Amino acid sequence: MKLTILGTGNAMVTECYNTCFALSEGSRHFLVDTGGGNRILKVLKDAKISVEDIHDVFITHEHIDHLLGVVWLIRAAATKMNQGKYEGQMRIYCHRGLVETIRTIANLTLQKKMTKHFEEEIVFVPLESGEKMEILGYPVTFFDIYSTKAKQFGFTMELSDHKKFTCVGDEPYNEADYEFVKGSTWLMHEAFCLFGEAEEFKPYEKHHSTVKEACETAEELKIPNLILYHTEEKNLKNRKKLYTEEGKAYYHGNLYVPYDLETFHI
Ligand SMILES: [Zn+2]
Repeated sequence: MKLTILGTGNAMVTECYNTCFALSEGSRHFLVDTGGGNRILKVLKDAKISVEDIHDVFITHEHIDHLLGVVWLIRAAATKMNQGKYEGQMRIYCHRGLVETIRTIANLTLQKKMTKHFEEEIVFVPLESGEKMEILGYPVTFFDIYSTKAKQFGFTMELSDHKKFTCVGDEPYNEADYEFVKGSTWLMHEAFCLFGEAEEFKPYEKHHSTVKEACETAEELKIPNLILYHTEEKNLKNRKKLYTEEGKAYYHGNLYVPYDLETFHI
């Protein structure tokens, strides 16, 4: 399984893209979040991921930096469908309340010749917490992260060789999800900024964590691989170095602070 980090930034970044990533098995892709707009098409192109090879998309929550790229993705897929270049269905997974939001925004902003594919080639899959699906041939369990800001779901995917890949969305891991997260071999966790810069970026008032807390969580859960994302972008060039240095004091597994478009074999 290949993981491509398409974007690593928080909502207001401009130098990198908003947080989103793709899991790929051969030429099939599972896209998780879409960032805030048209730039999703650019990062997919840069990552050599063709829209016609994306059949599974998961949107974690309604916030602009995760959701609005899906309208562009729908437009791109529908265009391919109209040209006879997209085979099969595009499935958009999200918690039940989000289905109507995405459908409404798409209906208000896209031409009928695009949205006519809804319910046929482009289908919404409303999720309940704890619901299991098979995606790219692997079992995936979606779960509520109990956000106090906007309902948000994360997921865990059971890979071969007892590996387990977990994404807890863009808020700190919630202990209520222990049953889903325990035993993970990979954890994607947000880190808004360095603990040393919390005064400057105020992550806590936005219900985000710092590198320190994300690392303490992964250490406590004994997760061997931790990927940090959804960050500020003040010093992107040195982010990897600075975040890794701070994180090492709290976490003894493999700590990754990727750039946009970095890939992993998981
Ligand atoms: Zn976000």
